[in-house]
Amino acid sequence: SDPVLELRGVSKTYRVKQGLFGTPVPLRAVDDVSFSLGRGEVLGLVGESGCGKSTLAKILLGLDMPTKGKVLVDGEEIGGQDRLALARRIQPIFQDPYSSLNPRKTIHDIVSLPLRVHGIGDATSRDKAVRETLDLVGLPVRVVNTYPSQMSGGQRQRVAIARALIMRPEIVICDEPTSALDVSVQSQILNLLNDLRNEFGLTYLFISHDLAVVEHLATRVAVMYLGRIVEEASVADLFDAPRHPYTRALLNSVLTPDPSQGVPDTQLGAAFPNPIAPPSGCHFHPRCPFAQDHCSAQAPRAVPRSGGHVECHLQDPDSPMYRPDFTV
Ligand code: SF4
Ligand code: MG
Repeated sequence: SDPVLELRGVSKTYRVKQGLFGTPVPLRAVDDVSFSLGRGEVLGLVGESGCGKSTLAKILLGLDMPTKGKVLVDGEEIGGQDRLALARRIQPIFQDPYSSLNPRKTIHDIVSLPLRVHGIGDATSRDKAVRETLDLVGLPVRVVNTYPSQMSGGQRQRVAIARALIMRPEIVICDEPTSALDVSVQSQILNLLNDLRNEFGLTYLFISHDLAVVEHLATRVAVMYLGRIVEEASVADLFDAPRHPYTRALLNSVLTPDPSQGVPDTQLGAAFPNPIAPPSGCHFHPRCPFAQDHCSAQAPRAVPRSGGHVECHLQDPDSPMYRPDFTV
C-alpha cells in the first residue's frame, strides 16, 4: 500500500555561533534521511542524545522546516499544508507529562485545547469529544475537572495521549513517551499505545533510547548517528542480525532508565563526537572497533541489507573493505 509517511532526502542544517563573537558555523543535525512508513507501522528511531532524533521530530510536527528534501503525508508535501491540516494528521506525545501539561488548567481544558486552538466544534461537541477520548485512553470521565497535580504519572501520560488523539491524527510522534514513568506503569502505557494503533490504524514514529521498548512495539527500526540513519531494518532483522557496528554497540549497552543520561559510552569507547565537527569519512570511525584507514578517508554509502539498508564499508560489495561473511 502507499506510504502514509515518507521522507525523501531530508536534511536540516543550523548555523550555530561558537562563543559570543564566533562566526556562525553549520551544524548538520539531520543528514539526507529517507524512509517510508505504511499505515499501522511503527518506526522505532534510536540513537544517543544529539544524534538528530528530536530535530527530525520537530520537522515532522511542522515546528521546523527541512533545509533540503521533502516530507510527504499520504503523498502530499507537508511544507505546502497549513498548520491545521498538519495538526490533524500528525500529533505529538512528549516524554515528560509533568512538564508538558499546564498545571493551572483542568484536564478538560488540556485535552480540548487542540480543538479550541483550531476552532473545531462548539462547546457541546468539544465536551463530548473530551469524554469519548478520555474513555479511549482508560480514564474515568470524572477526571475532567481535576488538575494534573492530582494525577499519577501514568494518568498524566494518558491525558497527554488523549490530547494527541482528540485531533484524530493518522500519525503520532512519540518522543520517549514512557521514559519518565515507573517501570510498572511503562508496560500499561505501551499496551495502550499498541491497542490504539490497532483500533485506529495509527502510524507511529517512536523515538526511544530504550531498545527493549522498541523491540516490543516497533515494526521497523532506524538507528541514527550524527544525523544519518546508519542502519534501518524490520525489527526482527535488526535485532537478530545487526549489520552496523554502532547498532551492535547499542544492543550491547546496558541502557540506563534515565534518558537524560543518554546511552552510556562504556562499550562505545570514545565519547560522542561534537556534531559541529563530525569525524571525516564514516562519522562512527573514532568509536568503531572495526575501523581501518579507509573509514576516515571515505564515507560509506547506503547499501541494501535484508529488510532495509546499512552504511558501513564492511557491508559494501564495491568497497575494498567488503567482508561478505562479516557479522558484528
Ligand atoms: Fe566502522 Fe568503518 Fe563500518 Fe564505519 S565504515 S562502521 S568505521 S567499519
Ligand atoms: Mg531528545
